[in-house]
Amino acid sequence: MKKYNISKMFGKFVCDDKVLKKYVSKREFNNYLDVKEKGGNLEGKTAKAIAKAIKKWALSMGATHYTHWFMPLNGKTAEKQVSFVEFNPLSGVMIEDLSEKALVKGEADASSFPNGGERMTFEARGYTIWDYTSPVFIKEDFEGNKTLYIPTAFCSYNGIALDEKTPLLRATESLNREALRVLKILGYDDVKKVHFFSGIEQEYFLIRRDDYNSRLDMKMLARTLLGAKVLKSQEISSHYFGAIGNKVSAFMNEVDEILWKMGVAAKHQHNEVAPCQYELVPIYTHTNIACDQNQLIMETLKKMAHKYNFEAIFEEKPFAGVNGSGKHANWSVCTDTNLNLFDVELEDKDLFFTFFVAMIVAIDKYNKLIRISASSRNNDFRLGGDEAPPSIVSMFASDYVLNLFEEHFCNGGSTRKKDYLDFGVKTLPKTVKDFCDRNRTSPFTFGGNRFEFRMIGSSQSVTFPSTCLCVALSRVLKEMADVAEKEVGDKKACLIEIVKKYFYEHKNIIFNGNGYDKSWEEEARKRGIPIFENSLEAFEEFDNDEIIEAFESTKVLSKNEILLRKFVFIKTYCDTVMLEAKTMVEMFNKNIFNSIEECFSFYNARNSWKIRSKVVEDSRDILITLITSLEEYVCKAEREENLDGLKVIIKEKIIPVMKLIRVEYDKLEKIIPEKFQPFANYNKILYK
Ligand code: ADP
Ligand code: MG
Repeated sequence: MKKYNISKMFGKFVCDDKVLKKYVSKREFNNYLDVKEKGGNLEGKTAKAIAKAIKKWALSMGATHYTHWFMPLNGKTAEKQVSFVEFNPLSGVMIEDLSEKALVKGEADASSFPNGGERMTFEARGYTIWDYTSPVFIKEDFEGNKTLYIPTAFCSYNGIALDEKTPLLRATESLNREALRVLKILGYDDVKKVHFFSGIEQEYFLIRRDDYNSRLDMKMLARTLLGAKVLKSQEISSHYFGAIGNKVSAFMNEVDEILWKMGVAAKHQHNEVAPCQYELVPIYTHTNIACDQNQLIMETLKKMAHKYNFEAIFEEKPFAGVNGSGKHANWSVCTDTNLNLFDVELEDKDLFFTFFVAMIVAIDKYNKLIRISASSRNNDFRLGGDEAPPSIVSMFASDYVLNLFEEHFCNGGSTRKKDYLDFGVKTLPKTVKDFCDRNRTSPFTFGGNRFEFRMIGSSQSVTFPSTCLCVALSRVLKEMADVAEKEVGDKKACLIEIVKKYFYEHKNIIFNGNGYDKSWEEEARKRGIPIFENSLEAFEEFDNDEIIEAFESTKVLSKNEILLRKFVFIKTYCDTVMLEAKTMVEMFNKNIFNSIEECFSFYNARNSWKIRSKVVEDSRDILITLITSLEEYVCKAEREENLDGLKVIIKEKIIPVMKLIRVEYDKLEKIIPEKFQPFANYNKILYK
């Protein structure tokens, strides 16, 4: 049996400040910390010393290459590996080197990444710049090769952010700035910095590779475009929190081991609700790092799955009628004096409610932005299903907190005592009850010491949703501070009045009931909460005046940077649908029609099965007509050069006809005998 020593293993591949300190002089280390804390450039001797230290550490760990690692606007990560080899052709001498310039700044072809037309192909220069706030680390492949990863931000030649990280870093700065102003008004002058923490729950499916490879839709899109529903409903499945099988358990252990070495505090692994569905949760950390780590988690799951002959699937809704996967971002705001500003048990209830109410206002006022941040073609299939929050953004605040608000501000304080949970068994200890129950049906729920944004899709990068939350909250805090700071009398009293006023003005967004209930949509409509039919509609709102103002006044994105993102969102949505359509056509032409023909001959050859052969024949004819139309629409869409024109074909022609094809095929699939099934079907993938 393998022996673990987790504390020895944890962070072994991370070059954090503790490691750096051992390699550089005290003066240089302090200079470096100073730049990290206050901003500015790493220059001269300090930059040289830090680069030398990182190189020395990386080489001592056995690394041969390094790479600037960044997050372009495709939700994934990008890297270009460079070896430590430096060679002088004149002298013929080779040395291993990492210069300070190579550490801090890299060049990447900006035109080859999503850029919303911002860069013409001949104007290609883009830069990657080291983000000191996320530590460099080593990644090891299964063969033991090691590469040094340097987390970086990515922008174009003229300083336009072309990545996910830059806006997040700007947004964290903004939140820090505005929160400090508010804290000062409340009398917390001692706070020097406000941190933004995230704990991200990652759901995924693990399916056998053979099954995955048998389907073109899985290989192209990691989700099924066709497939009859499974026989067994989730109500009678015992998968959730069930005992984890041996193979999956071994897989999870290996995943944890790799993550621990890279400093990811992987904590929980469990079965999720659907068959073959699992979840991995690390302990929360600084949001910027948590976002980087979430990418490492997905990548590690994917690679390790291959080793076990599995495929890890992050797509939001791989199987129709089966629970989809999400990513829950738990987040909180905490001071350097260790006050969690979302902790309902904070003694200073003025402090708690200032930040709590600011969050209510943020969700109400920037509702559309929050919806956009969790939008994608695939998440549309998941949101509003019976497993995920609806696509309508509301907040669960709990009756307890709402009562507490009234008690605190209207009745002069709370008299509530702790409640205990009693199992009615003498030998089981009594425990303190949580102040309120949970609400799993709400997209944005309060959990006593943090908010949980449950709408995010499992395959999405969590960086952009985190940025949007941060922008919304810091914009509201800014407004509060702007007004209260101008008050000539008691600034704190002025702020509290704003908090009370805002609460009543915005509590419309609070919904503590069952979000899965169909009546909620009607109620939300009455309340005037925005409802979008799909993500494409939501993206259209990304450049509305209110959103532009929020991003510009917090200095997170300029109008240009917003427009280029809007273009990328819409284009990605359209590209995804086009790939779905082409994949569907190919599946029929290469595979399914052939199966149907075999199935037809099988039934047709038997007199007693004539009725069935007629059903197959009719269905086949309908499918031939529909696929022919789909082929025509695809051709038309491919000729369309204008994005608006493309959107119309996709919305009005391609998506509706794909829906019809799916309904027709799914009906037919149920009567195709196993031996003629064109690929692994749901029952085989999920239950065999
Ligand atoms: P659940 O019980 O909601 O399924 P888990 O306990 O598995 O969730 O995960 C909750 C996540 O929330 C973890 O990543 C955890 O570290 C994180 N978390 C806990 N407290 C905070 C906090 N104060 N701020 C941010 N994240 C937190
Ligand atoms: Mg949770």
